[in-house]
Amino acid sequence: MKALVYNGPRDVTVTEVPDARIEAPTDVIVKITSTNICGSDLHMYEGRTDVEQGKTLGHENTGIVEEVGSGITRLKKGDRVSLPFNIACGHCRNCNRGKTAFCLEVNPGMAGGAFGYADMGPYQGGQAEYLRVPFADFNALRLPGGADSREHELDYAMLSDIFPTGWHGTRLSGLEPGESVVVMGAGPVGIMAALSARIQGADQVYVVDQHADRLALAEQAGATPVDFSQGDPVEQVMEATGGVGVDRGVEAVGWQAHDHSGEEHPAGTLDTLVQVVRATGGIGVVGVFPPQDPNGPDPLMQEGRMAFPFGAFFTKGLTMGTGQADVKRYNRQLRDLITQGKASPGFIVSHELDLAQAADGYQHFDAREDGWTKVVLHP
Ligand code: NAD
Ligand code: ZN
Repeated sequence: MKALVYNGPRDVTVTEVPDARIEAPTDVIVKITSTNICGSDLHMYEGRTDVEQGKTLGHENTGIVEEVGSGITRLKKGDRVSLPFNIACGHCRNCNRGKTAFCLEVNPGMAGGAFGYADMGPYQGGQAEYLRVPFADFNALRLPGGADSREHELDYAMLSDIFPTGWHGTRLSGLEPGESVVVMGAGPVGIMAALSARIQGADQVYVVDQHADRLALAEQAGATPVDFSQGDPVEQVMEATGGVGVDRGVEAVGWQAHDHSGEEHPAGTLDTLVQVVRATGGIGVVGVFPPQDPNGPDPLMQEGRMAFPFGAFFTKGLTMGTGQADVKRYNRQLRDLITQGKASPGFIVSHELDLAQAADGYQHFDAREDGWTKVVLHP
């Protein structure tokens, strides 16, 4: 079958690989209809996170069940499914508590497994014609429509990661109806956090970035854009809120985002959030921060430590929630909002490409080129 493989930093190619096959009775094979490129893939693409050569990337997968293992009781050939980026066993201590991003079984020694990702277990990704899905009865979410349906395909394609992840950011922040929130980053995750906040009844939603095209999408999601290239985002938010600040903050940038020129820099986003969130408010961090960054430019993070205004954080009595999104915890309800026409997260998709064009897609998306906000590949 054809699949995208990682060869080295900024070098991915679509090539022939061994067919995905059933390896355990609880596996299914899914024929991929949509598989997205994610900001998280760029950590590996840029070489900031080590991943083995020859690995197939792709953790945002949607498709049709092609073949089921002998232990599968719920799914059947022809089912249309969304696959959470997390791979979870469904019965360990963390899965039982809904923390499927921290499954203790699927990736021994590390908490949490995922498709096509460094340090997240020996699982290939779905930027390929077919994908092996472990513990599939537990992990796969059925979608309306049969094997031939592509209704709401781009909306449902956002269910495997960024829509639930944006939602998770708002939940980690403790957002309540009528409250205000600042989202750092107008990437796909930040825009989904803004959309989620609006759906949950937030009053004011501010989204901070410097890319006009992305800020325009945040506006489309119902947010007020804050362009940090035009001035200190703290001052802008404090002015917009009459000096009060906001109730909640969501970090959707992560460690070492890079700016328009491709220059890498530490995000500094937590500093901003600690300043703009009012005393006793909350911060949800879904941008990824690695345990350490041994080859990066920041001497502290080389040792896995990060400067962050903890004194101000403590003095203000703030709370913070962190971590990968437990996609299964949210994707059923978010699917139903899409089905009912109450949420259309697919509006952020800027490009639909053939799998064969994947390397191009990576290059443009990685460069944050104007208009390249979210790429969906159709094998
Ligand atoms: P992205 O790289 O496309 O978007 C990040 C955005 O942040 C860019 O638009 C960039 O211009 C902006 N940015 C950079 N520095 C900034 C700053 N100082 N202030 C404000 N904005 C700044 O990535 P994405 O796909 O939106 O993902 C965002 C983060 O979320 C990444 O770290 C990704 O790995 C992470 N992520 C986490 C989960 C999870 O489960 N927790 C899931 C998916 C993605
Ligand atoms: Zn993703």
